[in-house]
Order: sequence, then structure tokens, then C-alpha cells
Amino acid sequence: MSAAISAIVFDMDGVLVDAKEWHYEALNRALKLFGFEISRYDHLVTYDGLPTRTKLEMLSLERGLPLQLHEFINELKQQYTMELVHARCKPLFAHEYALSRLKAEGYLLGLASNSVRDSVETMMRKTGLVDYFDAMLSNQDVTEPKPAPNIYLEAARRLGVAPEACLVVEDNPIGIKAAEAAGAKLMVVETVHDVTYANIERHIRRCGE
Ligand SMILES: [Mg+2]
Repeated sequence: MSAAISAIVFDMDGVLVDAKEWHYEALNRALKLFGFEISRYDHLVTYDGLPTRTKLEMLSLERGLPLQLHEFINELKQQYTMELVHARCKPLFAHEYALSRLKAEGYLLGLASNSVRDSVETMMRKTGLVDYFDAMLSNQDVTEPKPAPNIYLEAARRLGVAPEACLVVEDNPIGIKAAEAAGAKLMVVETVHDVTYANIERHIRRCGE
């Protein structure tokens, strides 16, 4: 156990689950019914990591998507995401190993995702990771999603530790901003494959120096 770090808090999409593509596909499938589409470029530079509701608000402001459609598109998108999750979400050995080892070493483990609770619970069950978490938060557990710091502050509160004692594992600028604003320590990953025990352990050690 490190003196500086007592909890590891993971983002979900792009960190524990390679779901970027699923969210992209699912939202576009719903949007296309109404003649709208988000390009891959816009997805990567602007939309990725934001809750669906925020994405729809942006589409209304920027491209005139009728506000009345938000509810329906949001529901469809969620259904399409679930179809993809059930077909594609699987356990990853490196993650199971990392979480079980960190837990055995006495670290508290948290999850803080900008996705809705239903997605968080289903994905964590499908990956086999659900039982490792001492606290599991979705965007429905806070009033302001990332990039606001709320979800990381709330995760720390539920884990009973100071935000500065949390190492947050994040993959995109929106989540990084949230973690930094919360005052947590940060480990940035490019893909789900960077989330290994060795990598996390190295970051924990660095925080203690
Ligand atoms: Mg992410």
C-alpha cells in the first residue's frame, strides 16, 4: 500500500471497456433515422466522452436537431448501445488481474463514468469486474457530468478518502479535466490495453515520491 494513494478510480469508456465505437455507432444509428449524423472526425475531436444528452443539445444548437426528438433519440441510442454491449462486451484478463491484485493489496476501487447507470452496470457485469468496486458511479449520481469535478469528488466521498488520495485512470480530455478539477492524481491511458497492473503500480509509486 502506498502512503499517498489509497483508492484507484477508473473511468469506464476507453479505460475498462472499449466502448467508444459502440456509442458512436449507436448514436449515429438513431440519428440517421432523422437525417442527422456525427462524422468520425467530429466524434473524436468534440463529442467523445460527453453524455448523450449533451451531444444532442450540441446538435440542436449547431445543426438544428429538433429539441422534441431528444427523448426519443436518447432512448433509441440507449437500446442500440445495449445490443452492441451484449454482443461485444467481454472480460479482459489484464483488467481482472489488475483489479484483483490492487484489491488484495488493500486499495479501494471506484468507477466514475459519464454513461448512464444502466450502461455502467451492464458493462461492468459483462466484463466480470462489477464485484471489485467499492463504489460505482454513473452520470445519474451527480448533477453535473464530466468535465465538472462532481463525479470524482462524489466517488472520493463514497470511498471515504480525500480526492488527493485517489489515482484516477482516464483516457480523454473531458475526463482528465474533471479529475484535475477534483484535485485527484492522474494516470492517462491511450487505450484499454494500457490499463495493466504494472502500469497502475508504477503510477502509484510515482505519486508517493
Ligand atoms: Mg473515457
